[in-house]
Amino acid sequence: MENLNYLGDSVNAMTRVYMHGISKSFDVVKALSNVDLLLFPGEVHTIAGENGSGKSTLLRILGGVLQPDEGKIQIDGLIQEFPSVRSAMRLGVTMVSQELSLVPNLSIAENVFLGHNQTKTKFGIDWRDTEKRASQLLKRLNLDVDPKREVASLPLHEQQLIEIARALAFETRVLLLDEPTSSLAPNEVASLFTVVRQLRDQGVAVVLISHRMSEMLEISDRFTVLRDGKLIDSAVRSEVDENWLIDRMVLNRPAQSAHISGEDANRPVVLQVRGLTDRFGAFNEISFDLRKGEITGLAGLAGAGRTELVESLAGFRPREGGEVTLGSATVRTTTRQALNSGIALVPDDRRTKSTIHDMSVRENLLLSQHKHPLARRSKSQEAKVVKEWIDKLRIKSADIDTPIKNLSGGNQQKVVIARCLQTNPQVLLLDEPTRGIDLGAKAEIYELLRNLASEGLSILAVSSELIEIFEISDRILVMHAGSLTADMSRSQANEGLVVAAATGSGL
Ligand code: ADP
Ligand code: MG
Repeated sequence: MENLNYLGDSVNAMTRVYMHGISKSFDVVKALSNVDLLLFPGEVHTIAGENGSGKSTLLRILGGVLQPDEGKIQIDGLIQEFPSVRSAMRLGVTMVSQELSLVPNLSIAENVFLGHNQTKTKFGIDWRDTEKRASQLLKRLNLDVDPKREVASLPLHEQQLIEIARALAFETRVLLLDEPTSSLAPNEVASLFTVVRQLRDQGVAVVLISHRMSEMLEISDRFTVLRDGKLIDSAVRSEVDENWLIDRMVLNRPAQSAHISGEDANRPVVLQVRGLTDRFGAFNEISFDLRKGEITGLAGLAGAGRTELVESLAGFRPREGGEVTLGSATVRTTTRQALNSGIALVPDDRRTKSTIHDMSVRENLLLSQHKHPLARRSKSQEAKVVKEWIDKLRIKSADIDTPIKNLSGGNQQKVVIARCLQTNPQVLLLDEPTRGIDLGAKAEIYELLRNLASEGLSILAVSSELIEIFEISDRILVMHAGSLTADMSRSQANEGLVVAAATGSGL
C-alpha cells in the first residue's frame, strides 16, 4: 500500500474504503479536487458541507454512479474500478439516493431481490423462498409488513427501508445515504437511525449526508468536511461540535458582518408589515418590521409560504387582509404601485421568472425601464448606464450585448439585482439569491448585499440554506406552514432555534 498522509486517520488493515485523490469536474465547475475519504467498518461517517460543496458527487463516485476524472478507490486494500452501480454493489457498496429507485407496482419481495440471483426451482424463480428471505431482511430492519405487498402502498419512509433491505440483500458492507432524512418526520428519522445503528453494530460502514446539524451530531462517529470541492478536515465525534462544523463548512465566515453595529433597534423602520394575509391562504397574519440598512433573512422549509410572502410584498399576489407601510405610505397590491413605492423583488427562479433568456445583458438590465415609456434614453445613454452597473456589481460579461444565457448563474443573478436597483428601491426582496450559483459567486453576492445594506438599503432575503441565513442576516425571521414562527436578532439566534421554528416543533 502506498504511504499516504491523510487528515485525521491513517490507512490501516481495517480500512474498508480508501478514496484517494478524487477529482471530478462538470464542464467548468470543479465539483471535487483531490479529495480523500477513509471508511472503516462499524462506523457512521457524516460528510458535511454547504450545498454545492461536492458531497453527493463524492458519494455518487463511490456508488458507481459517476466516474472520477482522477483518483483511485481501494476496497479492503485492493484498487477497484467502479464502472457502474452494479459493479459497486458487487463489491458491497450501495447507494440509497434522494430519489428512490424502487419499482412501485412490484411487491416488496420482488423489489428487494430485483436483479439478484434468486433461488430457482425447475418451474422458475422460487417465490416462496424469495419471500421468506425478504421477511428475514425486513425483520432486521424492524419492519413488520407483508413482503407480498405492493411497494407503492407503503409510506415514503418505509419505501426507504425497502431500499436499504435491497442493499442488505446484496450483502452490502458500505451503505451510502444521501440526505435520507430530508423528507421524514422526526419519529421516522428516529426509526431510520435505529436501523442505521444496528447496521453499524453489525459492521457496516454507513456514510450519511444530512443537512440537519443536530442529526449528524446525534448519529455520527466520524466527520469529513468538504468545502468548495476540497477536503477541509476530518475528525472523530469527540472532537466535533456545532462550532467545529460551521467553522469548517462556511467560506470566509465574517468575524461578524462589518455593518452590524450593535443592537439594531436604533435603525429606523422602513417597512412595516401588519397582519398580512394571503388571498389564497399561503400565509396568514404576518407581522414584522424591516429596518434601514439591515439584512433580514427569511428561513423555513419548502412550502412554508416564504415565496408567496415576498411576492405579495412586491405586489404580485392579491391580499386578503393586513397592511404594508413603507416609510409613511401604505403600499397597495399592484406591482406598479409596489415598484413605484420602492419595493423590488429578485425572484427565485431566474430562468423562468426574471430573465429573458435570448435577450442581451443590456436589454435584461433595462427591462424595468419600460414602465417609463416617455422617458426613453438614447442608445448611448443606455449603454453608459448599463456599463456603470456592470462595473458597480462587477458583472463578468464579454460585452453589454452578450445574450444573458451566456453568462454564469452568478453573473445572471447580478444582472437581475442591477435591474431591481435601477428602480431605486428602499426595500430589496430576494428569493433564494444564490440558488444554483457556485461558491465563489455566492461569496460575491453576499458581499454585494452587505455593501448595499451599508449604503442604507433594507434587504429581505429568503433562503433555504441555514448557513446562508447565518452568513448574511442581521435579523432572522422563520416561517412554518404559513405563519411567522420566529423573529430574532442574529445574536439571539442559533441553528437549533431556527430549525425548531422552521419545523414547527414546540409550537
Ligand atoms: P452537494 O451534494 O454538496 O450539495 P454536489 O456534489 O451536488 O454538492 O455538487 C457539487 C458541485 O458540482 C455543484 O457546483 C454542482 O452544481 C455541480 N454539479 C453536481 N452535479 C452536476 C452535474 N451532473 N452537472 C453539472 N454540475 C454538477
Ligand atoms: Mg447533495
